[in-house]
Amino acid sequence: MPYLLSPNAPLAKLYLEHQQASITFERMTVGEAITEWERFQPEGTYAARADMQGLKEVADAPDDRARERKPDKECPMKRSTFDGEAIVYRYGCPHWADLDEAGLGQLRLAHNLWNELVAGELQHEETVRQLWAQRPEVSETLAVVTVAEEALTKLLERTKSEHVKDRSTRTRVETKSAVAEARRELREARAVAKAAKKSAYAEMEPLFAEVKQAQRDVQRALYGTYTGQGLYWAMWNEVLQRFQTTLQTIATQRRAGRPATVRFHRWTGEGTLTVQLQRQTGDPARTPSMLLSPESKWKNVFVPPECAREEWPERCRPAARPNRGRGNIRIRMGQDEQGAAQFAEIPVQMHRPLPSNGDITLVRLTRKRIAGQYRLYFTITVRTERPAERSEGHAIAWNFGWRRLEDGSVRVGTFEASGTPAEPFSFGSPMFDELVRLRDAGRSGEVVIPASWIEVIDKQETIASLRSTSFDEARAVFATALVASPELAEALGVVPGDVSKWRSPSRLAAAVLRWRDLDDSLKGDALTRLEAWRRQDRHLWEWVANERNQLLARRRDVYRVIAAAVSDRFGTVVLDDADYRALARRPVPEEEDAEMARRSRAMRVLVAPGELRDALNQAAKRRGVPVDVHSAAGLTSIHETCGSDLSERSSADFAGSTRVWCATCEKSFDQDSNAAKNLLARLVGNEPGAKAG
Ligand SMILES: [Zn+2]
Repeated sequence: MPYLLSPNAPLAKLYLEHQQASITFERMTVGEAITEWERFQPEGTYAARADMQGLKEVADAPDDRARERKPDKECPMKRSTFDGEAIVYRYGCPHWADLDEAGLGQLRLAHNLWNELVAGELQHEETVRQLWAQRPEVSETLAVVTVAEEALTKLLERTKSEHVKDRSTRTRVETKSAVAEARRELREARAVAKAAKKSAYAEMEPLFAEVKQAQRDVQRALYGTYTGQGLYWAMWNEVLQRFQTTLQTIATQRRAGRPATVRFHRWTGEGTLTVQLQRQTGDPARTPSMLLSPESKWKNVFVPPECAREEWPERCRPAARPNRGRGNIRIRMGQDEQGAAQFAEIPVQMHRPLPSNGDITLVRLTRKRIAGQYRLYFTITVRTERPAERSEGHAIAWNFGWRRLEDGSVRVGTFEASGTPAEPFSFGSPMFDELVRLRDAGRSGEVVIPASWIEVIDKQETIASLRSTSFDEARAVFATALVASPELAEALGVVPGDVSKWRSPSRLAAAVLRWRDLDDSLKGDALTRLEAWRRQDRHLWEWVANERNQLLARRRDVYRVIAAAVSDRFGTVVLDDADYRALARRPVPEEEDAEMARRSRAMRVLVAPGELRDALNQAAKRRGVPVDVHSAAGLTSIHETCGSDLSERSSADFAGSTRVWCATCEKSFDQDSNAAKNLLARLVGNEPGAKAG
């Protein structure tokens, strides 16, 4: 499915993309949403990251968004009085945990509901179209629009197939201008149609109002149908809200002149169960211990695990907190045919505690297929009061980027502080000694991704190219078999000449599976070979996907732990305003080779300096530590010690190594530390170079 959203609608784009993953992200922080994205679409991450820049502003102000959103009818809590942050905690379940029949039934009902809403909407659109068709002066202009739309769609498809052919994301020049021309024609046709509609609208209005009302009545009737079948009302709310958001997004797209339509979803066994914890005026806060107490009025909705009562320090490795955070979550699943409430007890591993004074508003349980296996995880939305501002302690300035160091590790962030930390850094796990390299008693240092992690990525890329080679071979074997046996080609419904154009191993694997089910007379040596290929390919794919998931999850975790430790020890966090996502997408000269580029991209997905920045930002805000953002301009081009301007030097000098040479003071210095020092000077109002004068 092509993503045709305008780049100024990043939130909508994120939302739509994740609809496919059956997850909604409106309540997540940026860091969470991006990690989520990476987790499920590691390949698409970098192309989409630029669009997320805008999302950041939205996500940084969750209260305003809550205020803008109309309060749900079922949720009487006044959102406008809430002055704090909504944080989403995510907890994984053991690999063997899965939903029972009742849980799957809920997912299935929600899925069916979505598709019924889509069917209703498409029918409504068709009715409106027919109404317009009765007005010849309008229908003629609409026909022109349709032709123009089709022409554009065809061109966009051509663009896509050319990208595949050229193995590049760059569009050919002639195609680009043809697309621009087609867009212009469509815009004009739409303007004409719009004017025609406008002049006819007054007469048509009562008819439209009638069909709209009819559609609403159908939706209302669906509520009865679905809750009658046992769908939990919170699930109904969730699906309807998601549907309405999608319609709004589509309307925006259409106004921007892009074709868009609601889509049916395929049943994949994935989905999200939702419960809302309603709080009436006068109710106590929905803290973990409140929810565990016998007086909890939410015990028919959600009960956290026993361990949610305890507090333990944020640690990275389970070894550091044996048996901490394990337990069962009890969650409402809807009701059975007799109307009795159904529950599920799902085991969960809480790798970090819920805030003891947090107010839990929403709990979601998602079932997602990862590498051929269903996995469950919870996302728990918690409101916390805005913490009191705390600014005692020294300032710490950060510079981010990625730079391969001589030992094979990759530097992600470098920091310089105005003094030593309030207490020495201690992470309670030897892994962090590798990740956080301190100098000068913690007054400066760097965060690196160890070489062993990078090796995993390199190894994965090797596997990816192995898979690609064996796919080419298997495809050739398949094509030969089809040419040799026209009966086989017919039975499988495949044109032999098309096979060479297949790009996806899963397509070939599906054909092999179909072949396996055919009559024995059509089988032979080739099938045996292809079956062996299919098994091997699936194994490799699952292995790589699992490993990548684990690695990204570990990275997310360590960045959070580091960010928490930093915010506990310093009084101000100083960041620059560089766009780390755009930086991550910029090609590096040595990456002309596609293989290199892919490796390098995978490395950047793992390293994700922007995510370390987000983690620091979030952790500081949660603790009331002020975050000071300054312009990134000129941070690297001035030597902090002597103030000389180094911008004359070629960028190759800077790209090559950590250290650069200052001709004025005849010294070499670390360029990332230098940038962090310059940033620190901006906080004090001491512009870089001022010292020299
Ligand atoms: Zn100098």
